[in-house]
Amino acid sequence: MAELNELREAVAKVLPDVKHVIGWQRGYHAVRSSPLFIRNQEDLDKLIWDRTCYQNLASYLTSTRGERVGIIVKGCDSRSVNQLLQEQLINREDVVVIGVPCTGVISLDKIRAKFPINRVKDMQVEGDELTIATRDGEEHKLNRWDVAPDKCLACKYPNPLIFDTHVGEPIETWEPKQGLYARDEEFDQKSLDERFEFWRREMSRCIRCYACRNACPMCVCRDHCIAESRQPHYQSQEADVREKFFFQLIHAMHLAGRCTECGECERACPMDIPVLLFKTRMGKVVKDLFDYEAGVDQTAVPPLLTFQAEESNIEEKEW
Ligand code: SF4
Ligand code: SF4
Repeated sequence: MAELNELREAVAKVLPDVKHVIGWQRGYHAVRSSPLFIRNQEDLDKLIWDRTCYQNLASYLTSTRGERVGIIVKGCDSRSVNQLLQEQLINREDVVVIGVPCTGVISLDKIRAKFPINRVKDMQVEGDELTIATRDGEEHKLNRWDVAPDKCLACKYPNPLIFDTHVGEPIETWEPKQGLYARDEEFDQKSLDERFEFWRREMSRCIRCYACRNACPMCVCRDHCIAESRQPHYQSQEADVREKFFFQLIHAMHLAGRCTECGECERACPMDIPVLLFKTRMGKVVKDLFDYEAGVDQTAVPPLLTFQAEESNIEEKEW
């Protein structure tokens, strides 16, 4: 990981020219971070950069459109910035991008599955080993790959794909520990009935809080979202499985070819519903059909924002 001091220096240089720089600060405890809006030296002193800096801060960019802001991005987050630029949802001149190479973050959910984390006092990192001390005087040693989010296990872009300032040296891409679509492939092994039952069960737990939508950097409809619009009134507020499924499927279709697979939707879900599975499935279809990955090339036109009379990978039906 790049040095925190170097990152602070880079942010300090940008600060006079922007409304704020978005970074991370320590959250409730040593294994949690939360977003930080840096406006002055006092804020800057709170900036952290470590394996807890999981959140994709690009989700905040569209709400400050028209104002010049700075943002710190990891390689994976930089895809979202690219995709927002490709869709002209933000202006390049409004965003100062500070890129940091990332060797991987940690998943709170995966740590929580090993022991209760509400009493964490401290975390030390030594190479791949994390030592987590709790207030009860216990010490837990974890290998960071055992608690890495799936997106890190499949990471192809540890270095920022777009930046104005680069902090630290670019790092070598590691051999992915699993493919991004490993979960989809496992899911494909199920029969149609099993898949339907799987989603029926998962959707029955959804509380329709829309944290998955709100955390998504590419979800920009806001008050026009089909889940809430009254004119037209597409979706009822019934809390039944059908309505929940309806929302998730529309959400996934809306994100087809746009989802940068950052995993924020799944991280934000308080019910641990694997909603990223919908989107990686769509991402795979778009990759196969259009050879396109969202947010990788700032100059590319997203395939669903254009029209070709004949697509080379789509076999037309004989009508
Ligand atoms: S749908 Fe999920 S994974 Fe895709 S961009 Fe939005 S938050 Fe990230
Ligand atoms: S975050 Fe989870 S519980 Fe909330 S609406 Fe999305 S899937 Fe449902």
